[in-house]
Amino acid sequence: MHVLIIGGGIGGLCLAQGLKRAGVSATVYERDAAPDARLQGYRLNIEPVGSRSLHSCLPPELWDRLIAASGDPGPGMGVFDERLRELMQERSNAGRTSPVESAHAVSRVALREILLDGVDVRFGKEFVRYEQLRGEVVAHFADGSTASGTLLVGADGSRSRVKRQLLPGAGQRDPAAFGVGGKLPLTPEADTWLPEVLTTNKNMILPRRDFLFTAAFRPRVGEGYLMWAFVAHSATYAGQEPHGFVLERSRQWHPDLRRLIAESGSVELFDFRAAAKVKPWVTTNVTLLGDAIHNMPPVGGLGGNTALRDASTLRDALTSGTPLIEAVRGYEAEMISYGFATVGEALMYLRLATVRSRLVRGAARGFFRLCSAMPPLRRAIFDG
Ligand SMILES: Cc1cc2nc3c(=O)[nH]c(=O)nc-3n(C[C@H](O)[C@H](O)[C@H](O)COP(=O)(O)OP(=O)(O)OC[C@H]3O[C@@H](n4cnc5c(N)ncnc54)[C@H](O)[C@@H]3O)c2cc1C
Repeated sequence: MHVLIIGGGIGGLCLAQGLKRAGVSATVYERDAAPDARLQGYRLNIEPVGSRSLHSCLPPELWDRLIAASGDPGPGMGVFDERLRELMQERSNAGRTSPVESAHAVSRVALREILLDGVDVRFGKEFVRYEQLRGEVVAHFADGSTASGTLLVGADGSRSRVKRQLLPGAGQRDPAAFGVGGKLPLTPEADTWLPEVLTTNKNMILPRRDFLFTAAFRPRVGEGYLMWAFVAHSATYAGQEPHGFVLERSRQWHPDLRRLIAESGSVELFDFRAAAKVKPWVTTNVTLLGDAIHNMPPVGGLGGNTALRDASTLRDALTSGTPLIEAVRGYEAEMISYGFATVGEALMYLRLATVRSRLVRGAARGFFRLCSAMPPLRRAIFDG
């Protein structure tokens, strides 16, 4: 068996590592000209599901490197109102001792370097289309070259060309949300005025309108940063300059939150599209993983974790001894079930972030306060 993996993102590279570890031949074809061709910006929050997948796919020395490169993800998730009054603290990370069962915060650059180590990746290979010929699959690239294999895996992200050919009817949902992200370096000066809750944990800020997510990233070595993501209903945005727009919308917020936003750089817009659920299709020797099949809004930090889960699930299926098509069918059934459930979860978070009804907002804030006052309720809802 030889596996062609289209796309050298998190999911495609994790699959390549997992296949290599299991002794299966695989080559990754990546459109970017070189590993550092694009700034791979933000930190990635790896949840236990992502940790387990990485642990099962990476050789032990790369797993150890990953843990050494990870920062402390904080005890869990804090929920605050716009004046930084606490609504709830969820601490599901605290007390987890096994790195395999824990969350980790890792820079994308570090994760990518580790995932690229030792796998066969061809850069500058933009996939254009595939052809299925007598049990083989042939990938065609923009430079006119081709590659053939037993199985082709589309891991080419949310605008996947493999998906477009395999599932031409598959659609996207526009969740009517607008997002802007920024980063503030955690310099000694910034540490003097930033509230500790912002620099040690992930937080949801739930104002009377709109929404802010913050997460601190402190690598074990070097300077970290505090990233934020502002989310609003798209009806509130009419094409203004994004940074100024967020400052305008946050006029009534706590001065430290406003200062965080004002002094941040790397401000950019986010893509909030979500894959529409796909109808089951006839399994062949072409399949999909990660954002290529179930892209979701980046709320909740779920997309990368699900791509990693896909990679280990597909690796397990392909190395189970089951005939190829049956193995791929089993993987697709499982992946579609949890993948689209996770898209639904991300959309639910996004609805909470963009809901404009004051009544619903008030109820959501009341709900977090109630969970805070009743630890068993909080644990039942949030742990795990
Ligand atoms: C701001 C932000 C923060 C996020 N934070 C988190 C988080 O904390 N935790 C989390 O789990 N998720 C997070 N996500 C989501 C996560 O980044 C994605 O879900 C994840 O990158 C998906 O991985 P993937 O391998 O499927 O696709 P990608 O990482 O998008 O990789 C696709 C690869 O395919 C390549 N490619 C595309 N087209 C072609 C082609 N035609 N030919 C060849 N190669 C091609 C691309 O260059 C790319 O390298 C975040 C997203 C954003 C935007």
